[in-house]
Amino acid sequence: ATTVCKVHKICVLPGDGIGPEIMSIATKVLSAAGRLHGEEFEYKYELIGGAAIDATGVPLPEQTLTTAKASDSVLLAAIGGYKWDTLPSDKRPERGLLGIRAALNAFANLRPAIVPRQLADSSPLKRELVEGVDILIVRELVERIARVAFDAARKRSKRLCSVEKSNVLEVSQLWKEVVIRVGKEYPDVELSHMYIDNAAMQLLRNPKYFDVVVTGNIFGDILSDEASMLAGSLGLLPSASISGTGPGIFEPVHGSAPDIAGKDLANPLAMIMSAAMMCTYDLALPAVAATLEAAVNKALDDGYRTGDIFKEGQAGTKLVKCSEMGEVLLKAVQG
Ligand code: ATP
Ligand code: MG
Repeated sequence: ATTVCKVHKICVLPGDGIGPEIMSIATKVLSAAGRLHGEEFEYKYELIGGAAIDATGVPLPEQTLTTAKASDSVLLAAIGGYKWDTLPSDKRPERGLLGIRAALNAFANLRPAIVPRQLADSSPLKRELVEGVDILIVRELVERIARVAFDAARKRSKRLCSVEKSNVLEVSQLWKEVVIRVGKEYPDVELSHMYIDNAAMQLLRNPKYFDVVVTGNIFGDILSDEASMLAGSLGLLPSASISGTGPGIFEPVHGSAPDIAGKDLANPLAMIMSAAMMCTYDLALPAVAATLEAAVNKALDDGYRTGDIFKEGQAGTKLVKCSEMGEVLLKAVQG
């Protein structure tokens, strides 16, 4: 048996729709992965979004913020649904998300675009173009973001591409200067520069060129939506919003999927990958992250597919429910 080094306090926000289903899988699998490495996770459940509106009248109760601030990390599933769609915009579930990001000063948004090789056939692009794609898009518009991106590049293949439009936009000239200046502190990271229009094209022409991409808010928004389609499904993509000092927020890119909520049809892989990002970027637990990633990889290798990534006629694959995928992942972790 391994000894426990540290208890990691996680503020858990299951939220709405498929949120509770995928979160219950993620917490179980994360605990099992932690146990393998002698790490313990302590979960504190709080309300956010529609669930919080129903129980307390507001999308972000004070208690949720207090717990979040006192935690090492925040793991969030999904927010919103039909039920709250008629509320005025300042009272909606999504306000809870904006509120917690602001309160935790989570200015840096990290969006990996990964195409698992087992799913390269589900991409709208040709298999040979997307097989092995593993891009990290880092977005926002301040000097701090450059540091986050260089630090991220250091943990990966040490290649950073800064995307801007400095031939046309004045603000982009400043952006480029700042990135180059910060880059002097990271001589081990290879820095390149690309205009946004070219980057949008290269992302489809040769996505494997990219490792870490750093860009402003709007360009990042567009590029990450484009990159998300390389994988062919939203159900695979995690994201992180981090401040670099306090707890960050880790959540799937997808929403609460109200159309499939409660039907045991959701893909829990984006949620698991979000927990893996939490381990990498907030908790300094790369071994636990690697165990989670390996479990996802094994589940896909063994052919398990939830509805969103299942394709009729692909040999060796098996359509499974959300809960079955959860059990497969748990077994993969426990060995
Ligand atoms: P939001 O506004 O919260 O981002 P949205 O309307 O953009 O939400 P999603 O809630 O992400 O979209 O759902 C879009 C589509 O993708 C839906 O048909 C949904 O069922 C599907 N979907 C989203 N997440 C998953 C998942 N984890 N597994 C399977 N299908 C999913
Ligand atoms: Mg959406």
